[in-house]
Amino acid sequence: MTTTPLRRERTPRVLITGGAGFLGSHLCERYLAAGWEVIGLDNFHTGSKDNVRSLLSHPRFELVRHDIVEPYLAEVDLILNFACPASPVHYQHNPIKTMKTSVLGTMNLLGLAKRTGARLLQASTSEVYGDPEQHPQTEAYWGRVNPIGIRSCYDEGKRAAETLCFDYHRSHQVDLRLIRIFNTYGPRMAADDGRVVSNFIVQALRGNDLTIYGQGQQTRSFCFVDDLIEGIIQFAAKSGDEVGPLNLGNDTEFTVLELANEVLRQIGGKSKIVYRPLPSDDPRCRRPDLTKAKALLDWTPRVQLADGLAKTIAYFRSVTPAKV
Ligand code: NAD
Ligand code: UDP
Repeated sequence: MTTTPLRRERTPRVLITGGAGFLGSHLCERYLAAGWEVIGLDNFHTGSKDNVRSLLSHPRFELVRHDIVEPYLAEVDLILNFACPASPVHYQHNPIKTMKTSVLGTMNLLGLAKRTGARLLQASTSEVYGDPEQHPQTEAYWGRVNPIGIRSCYDEGKRAAETLCFDYHRSHQVDLRLIRIFNTYGPRMAADDGRVVSNFIVQALRGNDLTIYGQGQQTRSFCFVDDLIEGIIQFAAKSGDEVGPLNLGNDTEFTVLELANEVLRQIGGKSKIVYRPLPSDDPRCRRPDLTKAKALLDWTPRVQLADGLAKTIAYFRSVTPAKV
């Protein structure tokens, strides 16, 4: 009698941690559309059931309330580890928990990957580059991160998670893909998320002033969510030896002041720009070198900031007035 392993007979199954969050919910949607069974796992710290409400009745979707700091067991073929608050406001709210999520949570999922043989794709971040001396940032750059500052729980947590990923890969042959995501925005960011794009849009829609921290001369490179998700899906499916790290984002750079002006141009109204103190360790510039991703994948970011902002503004206009 032949005993074909069960996993080869059934529909492939992906575990998406942080599945009710901004990026996680888009990933749940895309993997369902591609025919996968999807387990969306979330502790609902910054995510919301609303983000996946349209998926709840889907026969191949399961939403699980769970905290990745505790082990989770399931037979899966792919793990996308996106569980972690990403906004400075939220990750600094309980910094010790943020560190636990990155370190203990990632270790638990690497253990699951080791046991099941599943591939694990880790959502790391451009924050591992800190306030960079190299611009734009290539994957070879080791970064300049304050280990004891207010951003460290996130930056160092993500750096430790990267270390764990590579040690499980070297020591236990865990099948790894590691991406470093640069500032991504789009529909399903939470209105109270605290990151700059959602803050400015919500402030302008409410007729409030736009709060620029510092003089607004710091730069970021903003990627629309659809471009990022396409890159993630391609890398998660990619065969071969390249495990990353792989920068994903958009390589067009803007100052925060330019972003504010574009939001005001599109929304209009009576909002003005006001200036607030710059938080400590706020990186002065950020732009990905995407050479590696463009060579490895059939991918390049396509959505211009003005177009992505228009779609994001339409989303925030459509959500209930109670939220915006
Ligand atoms: P988000 O806050 O919308 O999503 C994070 C999700 O993880 C939320 O649903 C939250 O409830 C959940 N979560 C947090 N801690 C958890 C825990 N201990 N157990 C289970 N679930 C938990 O943010 P996002 O922008 O969607 O970010 C998702 C991932 O991508 C994060 O790991 C983040 O670090 C990474 N990332 C995002 C960006 C970006 O620009 N959006 C940039 C770099 C990295
Ligand atoms: N920022 C701002 N006003 C806001 C929120 C953020 O000027 O209301 C600035 C913030 O200081 C930073 C940039 O915008 O320089 C991007 O901030 P965000 O929190 O979105 O991402 P990160 O700093 O993690 O890249």
